[in-house]
Amino acid sequence: MDSTAGPLNQLISDALAVISPHVPRDLTWPILLLTAGLATTIWLLRNGGGAKGADGRVRKMPLRQFLLPSDIYTHASARVDVSLYVFERCLRPLWVTTLLVGIAPSTEALIMDALNALLGSGPGLHSHYGWMLLYSLVTLLLYDLLFFLIHYAEHKIPVLWAIHKVHHSAEVLTPLTRYREHFLEGPIYAIGAALSFGIAAGLFGWLFSDSIAQATLFNISFFALLFGFNGSFRHYHVAFHYPRWLSKWLHSPVMHHTHHSYLEHHWDTNLAAVTSIWDRAFGTLYIPEKDEYTPWGLGPASQGKYRSFWQNVSGPFRDWSAMIKRKASSSAGLHE
Ligand SMILES: [Zn+2]
Ligand SMILES: [Zn+2]
Repeated sequence: MDSTAGPLNQLISDALAVISPHVPRDLTWPILLLTAGLATTIWLLRNGGGAKGADGRVRKMPLRQFLLPSDIYTHASARVDVSLYVFERCLRPLWVTTLLVGIAPSTEALIMDALNALLGSGPGLHSHYGWMLLYSLVTLLLYDLLFFLIHYAEHKIPVLWAIHKVHHSAEVLTPLTRYREHFLEGPIYAIGAALSFGIAAGLFGWLFSDSIAQATLFNISFFALLFGFNGSFRHYHVAFHYPRWLSKWLHSPVMHHTHHSYLEHHWDTNLAAVTSIWDRAFGTLYIPEKDEYTPWGLGPASQGKYRSFWQNVSGPFRDWSAMIKRKASSSAGLHE
């Protein structure tokens, strides 16, 4: 029993600690200091330019205002970020325990059973650093694919968009905006994370037979940095670009600025969490120009309904009841 419990416990604790952008332990001082250090470098290199204001336009600022602009951090949207973050953290243990910890082990067992039934027992490979890296990479790509598919569905299906809208109702971006989400959204992404961790663990568990007991298989330290940095910096107002060739492989933080823009040509783009691979495959990749204008939020037509904490919490329920009413009145119209 221990041989399967060991790596899975390690998997879950690693996942909780570092992988999921929806688990808030990556909002740590080292990551925030790294973010501030890189932002200062951009300020120096660009002579005070390169950071956006609350209006989504790049401007030149003195260093303190560059790092912590008052129009962003005193904005009503930034205050709502804090309330939604606290609320979401209170509810998080419920779904992390039931979904992530519940689904990942059973998915792992299902995949191992299926591979055993289809291909017989695994080749019993021995782990070394290359395999550990491959395991991390496969987990990352699977996680990113599941994240992409869920996020794509949230943007395209009105019932789900009603939930995801809360993330997009942010009018300014701060590192806390990453956790600005409706309390119904956490469980959806937890299922995606659990499935991707479970599938990767099952596949590598089968390949390595006994040596799956080595928890060190799951060495994620390099990706921990990537996930943590990507998450906090992509919701920071500093426009941090990667070279164009790198943006085709990894999402640069500024690519998420366009994801949050309400301009129509930015809609439904850059939907993955870390890599650009899935957006490229599905035709949703958008690499912005330097200093591209990205006004954040839902846009003038609907922003007024998503300003306060309670407006955001009640948003999906209001949308769903409007959808039901519309459906009822259109079918009543049909029967007249
Ligand atoms: Zn989105
Ligand atoms: Zn976002």
